[in-house]
Amino acid sequence: MKPSIEISSICNLRCKMCPYQHKDIEQGLMEWDLFTKLADELAPLSEAIHIFNRGEPFTHPRVYEMIDYIQEKGIKAIIATNALLMDEKKILEHLKNGLLVISCHAGDRETYKKITGTDGFDEVRRKIIWIKNNNPHGNLEFGVKFVKLPENNGQEKEVEGFGATVYVVEDSNQSNPYGYIDCSQPDVCPTWDFKGHKKVCCRDEYSKYDYDKYYGQAKRRELDICQRCAIH
Ligand code: SF4
Ligand code: SF4
Repeated sequence: MKPSIEISSICNLRCKMCPYQHKDIEQGLMEWDLFTKLADELAPLSEAIHIFNRGEPFTHPRVYEMIDYIQEKGIKAIIATNALLMDEKKILEHLKNGLLVISCHAGDRETYKKITGTDGFDEVRRKIIWIKNNNPHGNLEFGVKFVKLPENNGQEKEVEGFGATVYVVEDSNQSNPYGYIDCSQPDVCPTWDFKGHKKVCCRDEYSKYDYDKYYGQAKRRELDICQRCAIH
């Protein structure tokens, strides 16, 4: 399985399409001891661990140690970030067995500002290009996530021009176009929030669906979150 551990629910951006950061979700960082306890328990059962859920993982002051801790157990660390708080040299030093996904949903500065509320485009572009140029043997598995929105129509071409692999995805708030079919997510990706609460799905923004209580309903896609979900 590939579980998720939310090391932080805090984010430095306010992206307009974000399912989490416009809401009053509880903000916090995971304690180190809780993190190591979860990682110790999950490692023998997992091929990879995602070190993020609702927030920006680089708001956690011990994120690089957490990446090391997971990899030392022989499993992959997967991290998705907006990259503004990430040190590009440090991430190349630490992330040796894993995947780094950097979000960039715009091909220019103005659009980036409109979507994220922050003037961070030049910084993100610089980091993507730096990592691309300093990872010549592909030691770090690395890609850029671009969410399609009305504001950034066609701009994935500019982002592809930075030289990294670009994953273009539909707006994560879109309705479920597939109908209600069985969901594999609770088995594949159980999620622990920063307080250690086990949730049935990473999309449970308020941590209201306890894993044990709602597992069956999630599998059958009967929860309200599932009706907006495009994963099939
Ligand atoms: S960077 Fe990610 S978590 Fe933060 S506001 Fe944007 S979409 Fe949400
Ligand atoms: S929202 Fe529901 S259907 Fe979608 S991945 Fe989560 S549990 Fe599965």
